[in-house]
Amino acid sequence: SKHQSVALVIGVTGIVGNSLAEILPLSDTPGGPWKVYGVARRPRPAWNDDNPINYIRCDISDPEDVQAKLSTFTDITHVFYVTWANRRTEAENCEVNGKMFKNVLDVVIPNCPSLKHICLQTGRKHYLGQRESHGKVEIPDSPYTEDLPRLNYINFYYTLEDILFEAVEKNEGLTWSVHRPGKIFGFSPYSMMNLMGTLCVYAAICKHEGAVLRFPGCKAAWEGYSDCSDADLIAEQQIWAAVDPNAKNEAFNVSNGDVFKWKHFWKVLAEQFGVESGEYEEGQKLALHEMMKDKGPVWDEIVRENGLTPTKLEDVGNWWFGDVILGTECTLDTMNKSKEHGFLGFRNSKNTFISWIDKVKAYKIVP
Ligand code: NAD
Repeated sequence: SKHQSVALVIGVTGIVGNSLAEILPLSDTPGGPWKVYGVARRPRPAWNDDNPINYIRCDISDPEDVQAKLSTFTDITHVFYVTWANRRTEAENCEVNGKMFKNVLDVVIPNCPSLKHICLQTGRKHYLGQRESHGKVEIPDSPYTEDLPRLNYINFYYTLEDILFEAVEKNEGLTWSVHRPGKIFGFSPYSMMNLMGTLCVYAAICKHEGAVLRFPGCKAAWEGYSDCSDADLIAEQQIWAAVDPNAKNEAFNVSNGDVFKWKHFWKVLAEQFGVESGEYEEGQKLALHEMMKDKGPVWDEIVRENGLTPTKLEDVGNWWFGDVILGTECTLDTMNKSKEHGFLGFRNSKNTFISWIDKVKAYKIVP
């Protein structure tokens, strides 16, 4: 084959999956030329269509579907696992997410003799714990380093890591890497947690209604330091880990390398949409999921009036996630380990904040 590397991206329409689908096929991407198989649950959306990848519609929670759709691919060299399922309890999250990951590995590992490396994306909740554990276990002091011990509470990220470690141990020559972003700035109308897209949709609704862009968050988020993880940067770190021998069998934090304050970015957001910027209001009890709960018909009207790419408000407005991010103090990580191992990538968060907004507009998700 003319390809040196063959990627299987699980979750190729998600917030990092879409970045991998764009970056992997480029001629100057490390380890290339890459051939890319991309898996997602729904039919291929128009905004993912430009990427020269082989799109496979497959539900990885169904082992028979995985067997039917993925067992014919025998040339995969690298797996990028950038997906998840959200269930009510953490025990369910562990079970469902563990099964999804295992379903993929159980088919790919035996069928792909050239398989070299598996990248698993988890997140900063490795250190903070998932929602259910909050208030029940002590959280380590930040900035977080990769060597911190696990919390004494179940976490589907730990389940995924353990499945990965076991699979690699049983297969000589196979290596792994784990990638732990904080909140991700990226592009995907199909993501379950897309803060940028959610804020753009909120701003577009404010614009449409002639309303002030009120800040539905807490003082600590408004005034304190926040950071973020650029989706393209995460993809670059995963590709680096996939091909660089210095990155094997390690977990890495991944964040932009700078800090920002929402009180500054909120003005930028307002400017980009031509709306009046609100600010933190003492004592307010605003929540996006409350303010936006009846806006479905308004959204449909905005889409129709402006000839936008058809979307459903519940897909593009992840209100609960916006409320979590703006409603809590941001904890920071450190990129030292990643740099010490040789990955020096970074992003200017304000510049990328604006360029992701431009992209959401360019793909006609918002006016
Ligand atoms: P996402 O929600 O953006 O994308 C999910 C992708 O997986 C989509 O392509 C979807 O079609 C696909 N998918 C979902 N269920 C599927 C199934 N059953 N079969 C096949 N495909 C399926 O994903 P993400 O946000 O990149 O999440 C990946 C990991 O990153 C998760 O563990 C998440 O907790 C973590 N993380 C995300 C963020 C964030 O801001 N989005 C921040 C930190 C950590």
